[in-house]
Amino acid sequence: MKILEQELARRRAQHLYRERLVLDSAPGVEVRVDGETLLSFCSNDYLGLANHPDVVAAFRAGAERYGVGAGASHLVSGHSRAHHVLEEELADFVGAERALLFSTGYMANLGVASALMERHDVIFEDRLNHASLIDAARLTRAKVSRYPHADTARLAEMLACTQKLGMIMTDAVFSMDGDMAPLAELVCLASKHGMRLLADDAHGIGVLGKNGRGSFEHLGMTPAPPTILMATLGKAFGVFGAFVAGEAALIETLIQRARTYIYTTALPPAVAEATRASLRIVRAESWRRERLRALVARFRAGAEKLGLVLMDSATPIQPVIFGASEKALEASRRLREHGILVPAIRPPTVPEGSARLRVTFSAVHQEAQVDRLLEALATAKTA
Ligand SMILES: *Cc1c(COP(=O)(O)O)cnc(C)c1O
Repeated sequence: MKILEQELARRRAQHLYRERLVLDSAPGVEVRVDGETLLSFCSNDYLGLANHPDVVAAFRAGAERYGVGAGASHLVSGHSRAHHVLEEELADFVGAERALLFSTGYMANLGVASALMERHDVIFEDRLNHASLIDAARLTRAKVSRYPHADTARLAEMLACTQKLGMIMTDAVFSMDGDMAPLAELVCLASKHGMRLLADDAHGIGVLGKNGRGSFEHLGMTPAPPTILMATLGKAFGVFGAFVAGEAALIETLIQRARTYIYTTALPPAVAEATRASLRIVRAESWRRERLRALVARFRAGAEKLGLVLMDSATPIQPVIFGASEKALEASRRLREHGILVPAIRPPTVPEGSARLRVTFSAVHQEAQVDRLLEALATAKTA
């Protein structure tokens, strides 16, 4: 065991110390922090639904009807009508046979991997996968290999060298870069080698595709075996929780075997009711997705003029790369002086030397607010 104070001091010296902000308002485009109102470009509430009146009203009505806590795990007595109906609606939404709710996306990934992977299996992971997929693989007794980011040629070589069965895991939209996985190629490779593909669409669901069905819809695909779709409800849906979608036998297997499903309290049913309201808006209001695209285009055009280093991203995740952690922190401080909130993202969340401001957009940002961000970045850049 390391001595804690020394370890903390080392982190501070390396500009890797993390601190929390305390918000005194609802999440939104403008948030209250330390008595100041800040313009926020760092939430995953991409559609502006976390504080939407219909979603809040459904939550309140759900609490009136079902109370606040689920009272038990799903397999004991915590599975309410609200959860059940939401699962049916989510399956219908993404075009899968069935869906299963989990309390968080982190737990959903752990649950899928641990339910399906055994000692003699093998797991292939994109090197830039979200921590929950990395931990999910670690928790199994399967052999784990990581392939270079989005490199399907290299993955094909790795697959050709194994006789084992198992799973390929990938973020569908990479959470820190905003680019998309080559899902069509990954589905082909998985089929060819008798593997499953676990696609984590935490940042695509609600945002991508004409109807908001996510990365698969964006690419003209539907998630069908060998694909297992995992998506979260705490980002574009603005609520909390996650679901896994796939064929009936997969969902039944998860109910029998996924430890993070079985041994935990069910989501509050009121959260499920709020999510149903959110899903109705996701389906009905495609203007939110169109607006997001327009704001992202405006930002990218402006940022390119400023000579900022962007990533190849067409999603609302638009990182501005600074390299050294210290520089990213300084840029974040400068933005804060302009009343703008974008925390610096540093290793180990992103690779060494790629510290960044992870700028994200919401459908409810105004054009003038995007312009304000660009002006502030112009000064932060010259820091
Ligand atoms: C946020 C996120 C998760 C975790 O989801 P939670 O519901 O917040 O636990 C999983 N995967 C990716 C890619 C994410 O960005």
